[in-house]
Amino acid sequence: MIYYDCHLHSNFSGDSDTPPEEQIKKALSMGLHGICFTDHHDYDVVSDIDFELDIPAYMEEISRLKELYEGKIEILTGIELGIQLHIGDYLKKLVDTYPFDLVIGSMHFIDGLDPYYDQYFTLHGKNAYRRFFEKTLERIENVKCYDTLGHLDYVIRYGAAHGLTYSYSEYSDVIDAILKRLISDGKAPEINSGGLARGLSQPNPGKEVILRYRELGGEVVTIGSDAHTPAEMGFRFEECAELLRNCGFEYYGVYKKRIPVMYRL
Ligand SMILES: [Zn+2]
Ligand SMILES: [Zn+2]
Repeated sequence: MIYYDCHLHSNFSGDSDTPPEEQIKKALSMGLHGICFTDHHDYDVVSDIDFELDIPAYMEEISRLKELYEGKIEILTGIELGIQLHIGDYLKKLVDTYPFDLVIGSMHFIDGLDPYYDQYFTLHGKNAYRRFFEKTLERIENVKCYDTLGHLDYVIRYGAAHGLTYSYSEYSDVIDAILKRLISDGKAPEINSGGLARGLSQPNPGKEVILRYRELGGEVVTIGSDAHTPAEMGFRFEECAELLRNCGFEYYGVYKKRIPVMYRL
């Protein structure tokens, strides 16, 4: 079983209205042993939603809750950083400044556009998926201040609505390069069950990518639901655990003070 959810949002994120304590109460009711808050921080992007995190206020509140719930549930403090090439130095400084347990590196904006919105697909058409993976590779080759790569194939959550079909084999050249880069840099991919919550048949990424990561020698994965509300917490985690076991994994990683602690699946 999976007793930690390591990708969660609260109302410190511009796209969630959930007070952090509600997430904690939900986790307790589900019998989880721990959760890691990973609120959004996408710096220097143009969006209707404010994705910049008030980091000092966030750190203070999570640390207050951590104390309040000590002995009941383990509360970890993470962040979901929007990685972009031109802000690499800024991100490194930020990560060095605050005592995060986990830093998720995510690609939310490509060419200034979030694939959540139509414009990204209008701009890139049939090349939308390849563009996303190529930019991901370019960024992780240059920006290293993260622990786990969030929802590696985030873009496929939204492509179907634009008539695109996804298959790993079509992009295996660039996805394999991403996986090899993660392994050589000592980073982990995240298994994000938010894809399942959004109607995909698999988490982000799915079985073929997880298997390939294993085949290439990958050992650490993190697991998160990407829940923006309590209802999404731990979403279909049993299925994710089974998928990982079928791909040859016996453990998943929970980052504490930026170091993975391994728990049995
Ligand atoms: Zn994300
Ligand atoms: Zn997220």
